[in-house]
Amino acid sequence: MFRLRAARLLCPVVLTILPGARMLAAADTPAPTYSALSDALLERAEKEVARIQALVEQGTLPKSQLEEAKLRLADAQDDAVLARTLYGQVRVQDLTSEQAGEMIAAAQRRVDREAKIVAERRTLLDNGILAKSEFAAFQNELDSRQRVLDLAKNRLQLLEELRQMALEEQRLERAARMNAADLKDVMIRYDGNGTFDLKQLPSISSDFEKHFHHALPVSAIGETALHRSLGLDHRNRVDVALNPDQAEGLWLRQLLERLHVPYLAFRSAVMGAATAPHIHIGTGSSRLKLAQR
Ligand SMILES: [Zn+2]
Repeated sequence: MFRLRAARLLCPVVLTILPGARMLAAADTPAPTYSALSDALLERAEKEVARIQALVEQGTLPKSQLEEAKLRLADAQDDAVLARTLYGQVRVQDLTSEQAGEMIAAAQRRVDREAKIVAERRTLLDNGILAKSEFAAFQNELDSRQRVLDLAKNRLQLLEELRQMALEEQRLERAARMNAADLKDVMIRYDGNGTFDLKQLPSISSDFEKHFHHALPVSAIGETALHRSLGLDHRNRVDVALNPDQAEGLWLRQLLERLHVPYLAFRSAVMGAATAPHIHIGTGSSRLKLAQR
């Protein structure tokens, strides 16, 4: 079940930084101005709290208005967190687990605040004080915040799946070095000429696209926060979410072999690990860990 979900999630969420490559997933499509907008709203909300606080202290405004302004400020602060972690330019693979935690918490708080408002307004609606159309606006806002929370959860899940993939690579590389019993069922290793440079990726990617009419489903490019946190060296290495035994994966492997580019191909998990099959272009990535010992 995990594998199916991973495959479904990984393929569309392609992390592309290549020239000419397409951005595919809505959640990963950056809105360059969103962060600036969000910061501007945050600044405005901060000023508004200060302004209302002064008026409340003078006795000009009731305290309840200050409470409302503080809630709007909290919403704006959480939105700024989401602008950085969910809508921002940060690739999933470069989210730290701390940032991922902040992302989920911010999205959840925005749902909770609006749910409270909706519950209060529902009482007003039931008592005939609020019109249905006015109530609908609050309900819509709650629905939209819930969708954002779902997106944040998807992103967290994707991060976890990428982490599992990296761990699986590490585990199998180690097993291969120790000459563990036949690994062919789970991993294919091609050493080629022993070198791969990220600069080769655009041409590999465009060959693939010419042949299959869609972008190469890259899931991790080069050095990432995720690999670093696991002590793995993923510089000049690329993970592609393709099954090495299916048409597109076979085609890619043949291309890499023609180019003498080393790769590790991970088949569907057999040894009990729930990892999506994929092809790691470049040499193994455990060196960082070994060098540090
Ligand atoms: Zn890899």
